[in-house]
Amino acid sequence: MKLFTIFGNPVEHSISPKMHNLALRGLNLDGCYIRTKLEDGEKIISKFNSMRLDGANVTVPHKEYAYKLCDELDSFANKIGAVNTLVKRGNKVYGYNTDAPGFFKSIEEFGKISYALILGAGGTAKAIATILKENGIKTTILNRSQNRLDYFIKNGFDAQSHCNFKPKKYDLVINTTSAGLSNNELPLQSLKLSELFKDAKFAYDVIYNKETPFLSLAKKQNLICKDGADMLLYQGVLAFNLFFNNKLNEQEITKHMKKAFKL
Ligand code: NDP
Repeated sequence: MKLFTIFGNPVEHSISPKMHNLALRGLNLDGCYIRTKLEDGEKIISKFNSMRLDGANVTVPHKEYAYKLCDELDSFANKIGAVNTLVKRGNKVYGYNTDAPGFFKSIEEFGKISYALILGAGGTAKAIATILKENGIKTTILNRSQNRLDYFIKNGFDAQSHCNFKPKKYDLVINTTSAGLSNNELPLQSLKLSELFKDAKFAYDVIYNKETPFLSLAKKQNLICKDGADMLLYQGVLAFNLFFNNKLNEQEITKHMKKAFKL
């Protein structure tokens, strides 16, 4: 029987065990997916090996540790500097990032997008900015403070802080900040956000399971809105397939994992 886990701290809230166990059961695969609270990120790979895991997902705050400590890195994870999926092959642990392709799959339904604005400059913003750029979408990063912008500037993005922001027209505005997660804050001053929404078609918040003030404002202005549930779903589908050497059918995995959101 194969054994998988999610490493994080906190990890109690994660629905990954539900998603992956539904897929294991639905596809008749012999395996079990548990959750593991890990306090010391430095121990992520030694813990992975001592638990004799076949694969794992990694969530806050350990994605950078997983990136630094795994034996082999997928080229995309290497670009972003964060790993959310670990897979055991032979005696090596391979690191991948499925957050970014998961996000990209979740915006397929929007159709053609030429210009995007990302609010926030943390790990999720890096992943999303990189996949948008790889797919030819011109992307601006807007962050509250200046100090997280270096990575984006070095990688050729238009990256600005709130105090020197010169807005353009964007088709898609994405909130990757934690504003609205456990409070009622907007990621940007209401008037400025409202101006951006006037020119935009789509608003996306990576936060899931609640309508954030960001999405409420976008809805009021009649934008097509989406929260982070599909990103979470698709990153899980892609990770699950990596656990099984990409031999499974993504649509089949999706069908089973989707049920976790209704339970
Ligand atoms: P980080 O901690 O790396 O980055 C947080 C960013 O938010 C920073 O740029 C910070 O700006 C900004 N920020 C925080 N509070 C505010 C505020 N009140 N106003 C404006 N900006 C603010 O976070 P992550 O990138 O790891 O995660 C971000 C969000 O993405 C979380 O809510 C997380 O739950 C969600 N997420 C969803 C996923 C999914 O599958 N749907 C996957 C991964 C993450 P500053 O630099 O100025 O402090």
